Amino acid sequence: MGQLISKLMSIFGKQEHKVIIVGLDNAGKTSLLYQFLTNEVVHTCPTVRSNVEKTVLQKTHFFMWDIGGEEALRSAWNTYYSNAEFIILVIDSTDRDQLLATVELYKMLAHEALDASVLIFANKQDMKDSMTTMEISQFLTLSAMKDHPWHWHIQGCCALTGERLPAGLQWMQSWATVN
Ligand code: GDP
Repeated sequence: MGQLISKLMSIFGKQEHKVIIVGLDNAGKTSLLYQFLTNEVVHTCPTVRSNVEKTVLQKTHFFMWDIGGEEALRSAWNTYYSNAEFIILVIDSTDRDQLLATVELYKMLAHEALDASVLIFANKQDMKDSMTTMEISQFLTLSAMKDHPWHWHIQGCCALTGERLPAGLQWMQSWATVN
């Protein structure tokens, strides 16, 4: 746990940063954020829109967003994506039915969030029937995005226990260091 916090601090400690956590309902966003923020004093702001929650940890602003795919909200997405350094897309790896909706979200991110680096957490890897990161990558055609200027990384994890979250953060750190 302390390892996660110190890793987050080593990435985001000194300046103001904006990180967006998106995903469909039930993907595990809240659990993931809880893992990041446990044992820290957290300031939460009232919900900006019905499904956006902002949490501030030191100087890092986390916007957590349930994406229902509503067209009306899409027009506002730009507002939140602007200046975001990282977008964390959380996927419920057991939910095959929602994968098409996730693909839609992913495509939208690819088009509208070009300046951000995207970390995809393939969550719920502790479940027997979860899809592997390879399966999910193929579904999202991540490999087809190889030459795209958009930087992404997929990491399997379990947000309930925090398992393999540090590996994802490691990628963010290496990327933040390069830039
Ligand atoms: P959110 O709607 O995206 O914020 O999702 P939540 O964090 O509220 O999680 C939705 C449900 O999935 C809750 O019942 C969590 O306990 C469960 N959950 C979240 N992450 C995991 C995980 O890694 N493994 C398992 N087995 N369940 C998880």
